[in-house]
Amino acid sequence: MISVSEARTALLQLCTRTEIEQIPLTQANGRVLAQEVRADRDQPPFAAAAMDGYAVKRDEVERHAMFQLIGEAAAGHRFEGTLKPGQAVRIFTGAPVPDGADFVVIQEDVERKNNLITIRDHPGNSDNIRPSGGDFRIGQTISAPRILRPSDVALLAAMNLPLLPVRRRPVVALISTGDELVMPGGSPGPNQIIASNTFGLKAMLEDFGAKVLVLPIARDSEASLKTAFSLAHDIDLVITIGGASVGDHDLVAKVSADLGMQRAFYKVAMRPGKPLMAGRMGKIAMVGLPGNPVSAMVCGHIFLRPMIQNMLGLPAQHGQMQTARLTHGVPGNGPREHYMRATVLEGKITVSPKQDSSLLSVLAEANALAVLPPNAPPAQPGDRIQYLTI
Ligand code: AMP
Ligand code: MG
Repeated sequence: MISVSEARTALLQLCTRTEIEQIPLTQANGRVLAQEVRADRDQPPFAAAAMDGYAVKRDEVERHAMFQLIGEAAAGHRFEGTLKPGQAVRIFTGAPVPDGADFVVIQEDVERKNNLITIRDHPGNSDNIRPSGGDFRIGQTISAPRILRPSDVALLAAMNLPLLPVRRRPVVALISTGDELVMPGGSPGPNQIIASNTFGLKAMLEDFGAKVLVLPIARDSEASLKTAFSLAHDIDLVITIGGASVGDHDLVAKVSADLGMQRAFYKVAMRPGKPLMAGRMGKIAMVGLPGNPVSAMVCGHIFLRPMIQNMLGLPAQHGQMQTARLTHGVPGNGPREHYMRATVLEGKITVSPKQDSSLLSVLAEANALAVLPPNAPPAQPGDRIQYLTI
């Protein structure tokens, strides 16, 4: 049995970085920028009014000063002339500041009579002008790798970059195994249950940035499992769920070995999730997850996340743990790292009294996994323990 961190290292070695593809800006949200990109222009490309008002010369700005209005500048429409002393141009937010002007008096501070304006109040020191290139300059870079967020998309659009180099989403195939499983919406027989963690894992992997194919459920026969594996082509990672222990009906190890899987490891010193296996089938990475719903989901957080991050060229965020004080005591831990469903509220952590790895309702209530290292001594109320946010 290997440790969680050894398993993680071995899993990362099974991963291959996906290729770079060009995608339109409209599809960029959540994707991983793979190469540095550069702004195509200055923003703003000209000095622009930041407020609606009157463009004048700063030197002439004082209370009661009068100006003659000689024209108008609106967003998209420059005033083509040059301002002379004593002149003003009506200007609107986003319009280019006319030549000769270097100050915008906001309209609230001005009284207007026909073509004459008078500054009524002291206009303050701000020139109300956005300088040319004040947001970014041509050639300014956005570095990679970077997970693109909506604000990045807006910036990249302003930089006039309609196509972006991103990592292809890793394609993951999920194979559920078990005679007892029926798809949600199906008609379970009296001895059957619904395949659940399959869909939890699909959602989770999509959150991590993968594209997920849910393959038909494999029954507990070698032939059925082989058929399911045969459907898993043109993918980066195949994940089986269940059938990974050593029961008579646990066929994943045997069938994957028959199909040429080179095993990296089997069994990890953790709770839940001990019967985890991994290896390579040709170019495809393979992970065999335990079937218990909570075990499968916990393994997703601990192991599948860094794998997908690695394939996307992101630094895999190994155990980014936080700490919080316990609201109660926790017994000492055995030899396996224990990931306990817990709730963190206002900096304090409460571990759920129910830790059975089949309880999805407890997992859904939790917002954290409390992490007890192997052989941790008992913890007292108020002690700090580590946790992962889920
Ligand atoms: P196994 O690892 O196949 O022995 O499965 C362990 C437990 O997890 C059994 O109670 C299975 O019924 C359950 N299980 C296996 N796969 C799934 C699944 N995809 N969704 C929900 N429960 C499952
Ligand atoms: Mg099974």
